[in-house]
Amino acid sequence: MKSEKDIVTKHMQHAGPRPERTAPANPIAPAETLEELREQVEGCTRCDLCETRTNIVFGDGDPHARILVIGEAPGKNEDAQGVPFVGAAGKFLNELLEDAGLAREDIFIANVLKCRPPENRNPQAAEIEACAPYLRAQTKIIDPDVIVTLGNFATQFILRTNTGITKLRGTVQEVGRFLVLPTFHPAAAIYDRSKRDVLIADFQQVGAIVRDRMAARQEDTAH
Ligand code: SF4
Repeated sequence: MKSEKDIVTKHMQHAGPRPERTAPANPIAPAETLEELREQVEGCTRCDLCETRTNIVFGDGDPHARILVIGEAPGKNEDAQGVPFVGAAGKFLNELLEDAGLAREDIFIANVLKCRPPENRNPQAAEIEACAPYLRAQTKIIDPDVIVTLGNFATQFILRTNTGITKLRGTVQEVGRFLVLPTFHPAAAIYDRSKRDVLIADFQQVGAIVRDRMAARQEDTAH
């Protein structure tokens, strides 16, 4: 079986050219906890999506999770309930976690955008840039071992690449102190069943990495 060291790719070897970025948005206020950060997002007007949202969708899960799962943006059900990954994609995500020996409680799940784009259109670059400080702050507070990016938008944002998800999926990349594993968005597998097996394999890889890390930590503690 491959060790974590064998499967990790140094990020820029694999991720291809970096995309052009728009000017950084104004900084957000510092937040020590997810609760403080959520309060800021509740009142956020940094982009026009604040005018059409029903609820912000901040994210959900264990604030000390070892795995941070990042999706694209809230859909209709998420916007209505204020919770990420409800509906069919959420159900499939729960199955993927279970197959990998993980539970929804083992992860924190958030989206690149905290508000729903109208009619589920693609996120725009300016919206991603405006919302990005919240995701960066969530990542810093949670401090996970592994980040799983679901689909093109999350993957290209985290890896800062233009390379598509089909090429990047299943590769484990080292970005700073995080391991990043890109995979398809579970919603894509609902319409294209050929992606189901790929998603199952990718999540099993995530489960194995997290178990390896936990075992290594226990060994360190024992010595
Ligand atoms: S999408 Fe992000 S930046 Fe835009 S209004 Fe919502 S929380 Fe603010």
